[in-house]
Amino acid sequence: FGHRCADEVLCSVADTLLRLSTDHGFAARLSGNTFGVYFPRMSGLEDTADWARKINEALAMPIVKNGNRIQPKSSVGISMAPADGTDVQTLLKRADLAQFIAHESGGNQFKFYDVETASEFAELHQLEIQVERACDMENFELYFQPLFSLRKHRLCGFEALIRMRGDDGNLIPPDRFIPVVESLHRIEQVGAWVIRTACHTAAQWPGQLGVAVNLSPAQFDSGNLVDVVRVALEDARLAPERLELEVTEGLLLEDTSTTRAQLVELQEMGIKIALDDFGTGYSSLSYLWQFPFDRIKIDRTFVAGMKDNERAAGILRTMVELAHTMGLPITAEGIETAEQLDHLSGLGCDTGQGYLLGAPQPSADLAASVIADFKRSLKYHGEEPITGETPPHEKLAG
Ligand code: C2E
Ligand code: MG
Ligand code: MG
Repeated sequence: FGHRCADEVLCSVADTLLRLSTDHGFAARLSGNTFGVYFPRMSGLEDTADWARKINEALAMPIVKNGNRIQPKSSVGISMAPADGTDVQTLLKRADLAQFIAHESGGNQFKFYDVETASEFAELHQLEIQVERACDMENFELYFQPLFSLRKHRLCGFEALIRMRGDDGNLIPPDRFIPVVESLHRIEQVGAWVIRTACHTAAQWPGQLGVAVNLSPAQFDSGNLVDVVRVALEDARLAPERLELEVTEGLLLEDTSTTRAQLVELQEMGIKIALDDFGTGYSSLSYLWQFPFDRIKIDRTFVAGMKDNERAAGILRTMVELAHTMGLPITAEGIETAEQLDHLSGLGCDTGQGYLLGAPQPSADLAASVIADFKRSLKYHGEEPITGETPPHEKLAG
């Protein structure tokens, strides 16, 4: 939005910090977008944590400048004297390390410096180098997890899940490296790679199978998303109806008219939009009527909790009813046991996903799932399947 707007945002951040520190301490700008706040008297960890939480909350409020709506994020690092040091340099350095970790964990968080911070910092820094290199070479892998229709007892598609291989050859899960990709501002590039690769892979599957792709909110920032998706579909010759894009509430929390316009344009192309991880985060029901989603995905914590927790089971039942009242299909994530599968089918869940039905796997290994599904379809039409090992999801044949 330009230097002037940036300066104004910094001024309003400074105002907020001054307002929140007048009682006990003082605030100063240290460099670029880094501020320091000094408190000569803090009664303890809890007080400090309360204050840091307030800072995160206050700075997360959208700022409107010249008609632009800016959604800031803050990361707070805290060091305390005398435990963490007794001179300014050491205290600032340690607060800075803690701040870096809060930032790399996704922002809008605070972190106290402690003995592990230095090694966490070194580890994160190492990860950042690996992620940067992987981004430069687009060196990621795409795994696919089967999605099953619980009504038709059939495979209906796969969710694409990104993976990155660390220097030791082991896979690093996306929850760990996606926040780093985001903080390096490389998510648009990596997200485009995921969309292209998922479309190309899905184009090789039987026509009734769809593919679901996860999107980060930052992929909506530049306004190029619709074009990226359109070109990927055209290059792969994939029908838009076979692509589903999964977004989380976080996207709508930062709702701007451009985000909404992009979602609507994607839907008009025939692509479906799913609300992922429903039930976690803010779970504001207003999103459900304000944006016309095509599907809701229940977060796996509810599925995991329903066995021992009456309330989790009740919420789950209500979510299924809510979705159906709104005419939306609903998917349950994280189905790990036959009991959970039966229960969710009984509740009327439309689709399911989880280790019981199939773990995420590389695209080269998907043929087995597709063939097993084909055999099931024969069985369903009264023909015996070819003998072989019965996969766990064979249960779906009912
Ligand atoms: P998600 O979209 O909710 O994906 C489901 C996650 O649950 C996957 O974790 C999957 O492996 C895991 N899962 C599936 N079945 C089970 C089960 O039965 N039990 C348990 N405990 N877990 C199960 P994964 O692959 O580690 O992905 C984590 C998250 O990372 C995803 O959550 C998604 O939010 C994000 N992610 C993955 N790929 C991408 C991507 O290409 N782009 C973006 N922006 N985010 C991605
Ligand atoms: Mg997902
Ligand atoms: Mg999910």
